Amino acid sequence: MKCALVTGGSRGIGRTVCVKLAGMGYYVLVNYKGNQAEAEKTLELIKEKGGDGMLMKFDVSDRVQVSEILGKWIEENKDNTIEVLVNNAGIKDDVLLMWMKDEQWDNVLNTSLGGFFNVTRLIVQNMLMKRYGRIINIVSLSGLKGLPGQTNYSAAKGGVIAATKALAQEVGKRNITVNAIAPGFIKTDMTEGLDEKQLKMLIPVNRFGEPEEVAHAVAFFASPESGYITGEVLSINGGMYS
Ligand code: NAP
Repeated sequence: MKCALVTGGSRGIGRTVCVKLAGMGYYVLVNYKGNQAEAEKTLELIKEKGGDGMLMKFDVSDRVQVSEILGKWIEENKDNTIEVLVNNAGIKDDVLLMWMKDEQWDNVLNTSLGGFFNVTRLIVQNMLMKRYGRIINIVSLSGLKGLPGQTNYSAAKGGVIAATKALAQEVGKRNITVNAIAPGFIKTDMTEGLDEKQLKMLIPVNRFGEPEEVAHAVAFFASPESGYITGEVLSINGGMYS
């Protein structure tokens, strides 16, 4: 069975990525942190499209949980390789640096950057053995240009961009590609409080993006035909300068 793991698959971009990968024939492991009802909805959508998958609850920032839950699944499913990993789980907690609390820095860094490390380290071992893999990291415009009020988020995403480029060079020989996607403003819970009317003036395409537009790019990097593209960062931001 060909499997794909999507972290943060219960909502937003992660959900549409799950459905997209299911449409490509992958059995989808839908990771989430706590929102069981939304995760179940993702699984329903996968099944409605004729696909299949399962829920996998763990906090990507918690090394013990990741190795106990994901590690156990890997151990018990030796024949079912995870061919595609989408590191999508992420949070933001915006505040100017001078007022930022320890936990605001730690939580944001530990989720995006720590989560990338905790999950990828486990998955890449099997990919290396099977000599095939597609790793796609969802980063952000903030990680490319930095945004005020988001030093924590910009640092986390910038760190994942650098790690993407480094890992791509480590594993390229084994047919494993590692790429990143940097969305701008996408309509999800994360951007719910933002004023689209005001902000769209900054966007040449003049609107926020849809999660499906990000999933489309994930499918591109995930496809076997994209084997000669690695270490790249693709912006999906309606033409904002990045
Ligand atoms: P969202 O709607 O807020 O959904 C976040 C998802 O991440 C949920 O499934 C959530 O699970 C999961 N999650 C959060 N912390 C987690 C943890 N510690 N362990 C496991 N899962 C965790 O976010 P989104 O807008 O779809 O964003 C998805 C990714 O795209 C993030 O990395 C974000 O930084 C990035 N991004 C988004 C935008 C945008 O405009 N929306 C722009 C640039 C980049 P629960 O449902 O269980 O809470």
